[in-house]
Amino acid sequence: SRPVLEVMDLKKHFPIHGGFFGGVTAKVYAVDGISFSIDKGETLSLVGESGCGKSTVGKAILRLFGLTDGQVVLDGTRIDDMPAGTLRPLRRRIQVVFQDPYSSLNPRMRVRDILAEPIRNFGLAKNKAELEERVALLMDKVRLPRDAVGRWPHEFSGGQRQRIGIARALAAEPDIIICDEAVSALDVSVKAQIVNLLQDLQKELGLAMLFISHDLAIVEHMTHRVAVMYLGKIVEVATKRDLFSAPKHPYTEALLSAVPVPMPGAARERIILKGDVPSPINPPKGCRFHTRCGYAFDRCRVDEPVLKITDAGHWAACHLHDRPAAENPMAGAKGA
Ligand code: SF4
Ligand code: MG
Repeated sequence: SRPVLEVMDLKKHFPIHGGFFGGVTAKVYAVDGISFSIDKGETLSLVGESGCGKSTVGKAILRLFGLTDGQVVLDGTRIDDMPAGTLRPLRRRIQVVFQDPYSSLNPRMRVRDILAEPIRNFGLAKNKAELEERVALLMDKVRLPRDAVGRWPHEFSGGQRQRIGIARALAAEPDIIICDEAVSALDVSVKAQIVNLLQDLQKELGLAMLFISHDLAIVEHMTHRVAVMYLGKIVEVATKRDLFSAPKHPYTEALLSAVPVPMPGAARERIILKGDVPSPINPPKGCRFHTRCGYAFDRCRVDEPVLKITDAGHWAACHLHDRPAAENPMAGAKGA
């Protein structure tokens, strides 16, 4: 079966205007050539520090702006260059849950209308009775009481609002949901509830999910595969198990070293990265991570590594994997 979503060599560069004539003086290389695919019923997490470009990927898929280059393919149909009118029926199939449950719901709409809007827009109910039935079923799905549909967003807690946001995404009967830091703003206990809800819904409905997050601890509970982003590039892709037990990229290793391990005595040694994330306006030459990498060697400063397969289903962009295993600190099963 073909993937629900394929992203091919996606690039998004933002021009910076300045100078006397207001011309383009620089570019932000926010997303600089990334590819991945997601299958039905699969969650792919896109992780990395703030500013790595992961949210830009989500917005590009949603067509909130045009691409600099690359392709986005939904269920076999290329959608990035489709005119808005033609896109409309396909647009329903990709829905989004945003980070902030406070600003993403219209405060002047009752929950009933928030949920009815996509059902109406996409013509998913034949009459008023069916519309009401669908709204009620959506409330069941996100485990909110049916009689709360007459209430306003401000009458709900953050976690409940995020349930409404999820119900609104489901109202369109999507094939794929993009969650952009969807639980990051919530309290720890509420986070776990929403993560569980998303997982249950995904299984029940066979959804594909792109889970964008800076938080590997949350991702570990959530995902099938992980793609790690650094400065606009994917540096590693693997199944959750392979990535967490044996990362193949030094950046992933450092991110994982900060994730608490539940087993006492199994704690990973914390790797503190040197310096800050460099600016995406002028990313470092060679490997973009070389300014912070504890393993960097001469080649890393001049030659840009590409994603290569290291084990079945496990990809990493790091020159260490061109070395014999004895000279490759990322070859073994770290933290396993
Ligand atoms: Fe570090 Fe070099 Fe690998 Fe980049 S290519 S992650 S600098 S060892
Ligand atoms: Mg973001």
